[in-house]
Amino acid sequence: MNIRESVREVIPYAIEMRHEIHRHPEVSGSERETAARIRRELEAMGIPVRTFDGCHSLMGTLRNGEGPCIAVRAELDALPIQENTGLSFASETPGVMHACGHDVHMALALASAKWFSTHPDDWHGTIKFLFESEEETIGGGQRMVAQGCMEDPKVDCILGQHVNPNYPVNSFYSRCGAVNGASDDLKLTVHGTGCHGAYPEKGVDAIVITAQIISALQTLVSRNISPFDPVALTFGTVRGGTVQNIICGEVELTGTLRTIRPETRALLNRRLVETTEGVATAMGGSAAMVIEPSYGAVVNDPDAYRVVEACAREFLGDALMVEQQAPSLGVESFCYFLDHTPGVYYDLGCGIGTGLHTPTFRVDEDVIGTGVTLQVMAVLKLLEFEQAKR
Ligand SMILES: [Zn+2]
Ligand SMILES: [Zn+2]
Repeated sequence: MNIRESVREVIPYAIEMRHEIHRHPEVSGSERETAARIRRELEAMGIPVRTFDGCHSLMGTLRNGEGPCIAVRAELDALPIQENTGLSFASETPGVMHACGHDVHMALALASAKWFSTHPDDWHGTIKFLFESEEETIGGGQRMVAQGCMEDPKVDCILGQHVNPNYPVNSFYSRCGAVNGASDDLKLTVHGTGCHGAYPEKGVDAIVITAQIISALQTLVSRNISPFDPVALTFGTVRGGTVQNIICGEVELTGTLRTIRPETRALLNRRLVETTEGVATAMGGSAAMVIEPSYGAVVNDPDAYRVVEACAREFLGDALMVEQQAPSLGVESFCYFLDHTPGVYYDLGCGIGTGLHTPTFRVDEDVIGTGVTLQVMAVLKLLEFEQAKR
């Protein structure tokens, strides 16, 4: 029997698990029952499970002789959204819904685990099934990585997939190289000197300084960075002042910087500080820019991508291969795993219903069979590919 045929055995299980998990969603940080359920399923397959301190993340490690180690990542959390799909297996928890497809990703990982655990003659090596908590908020992957999920044995390559309703059912959407951007959180405080609004000469207006800083910072993107290098610089909040006739002495801003290239990220981190301090000083005030690095970029490894892309093309056919034209400046916590190993991240088109994170988000269930088959085939190909390098 070929692999594609034999994976059919676990598709009903994947669909059943997806319904079960979809019925009982838990928001980020509260994924206790979901994690317990995943643990029971993995242990019933004879797969040892480890947990991680400070979160509900867990990992099943399936060993089958000597060989490379491939990891598969799924996420545990749902969203604070009231479901309005009318599905027979809709959420039974008011105000909480699997509206980002993480129920599907967990079901795919469990079904893959079931297939690999029942077909030991078809592969050798180690497969780690990672279930990440709090993907939607802080990115639980960070804690898993810090606690050694990528070691012992060392993961040679990691695979991540996400359903995406913007693309046709069963399509593969990704690209070689950067898929998602890096993000830095910005906090800027501008100091002036408050005074009566009728006597501006007696103070230093922090609001006027802020206006100049915002304009100057927007020119960094257009004047310091190539038009072909994607960057977004956004200030989402500006707070300052009390009443209409008092000159404001302090303004606070928060924002986000999104970049793809590490060199661009470093350059802009430096220029953001230089520009804010320079403009504020020139205007008689002062400014302090605090930059907190947040997510890293998600960059598909070119060699591993070619392996997975070829596998998807063979399975799905040319018509369902949608090449992502440019990286997205949204962030993805898959980046934390990629700090330690090459990997491939792709979207699986699930093309019905409305967008991710909406109350009417739905998935064409055909995608579940396609997703499991593609995941199993891709892991097998990556095992072969890594074995050949040894
Ligand atoms: Zn989401
Ligand atoms: Zn998601």
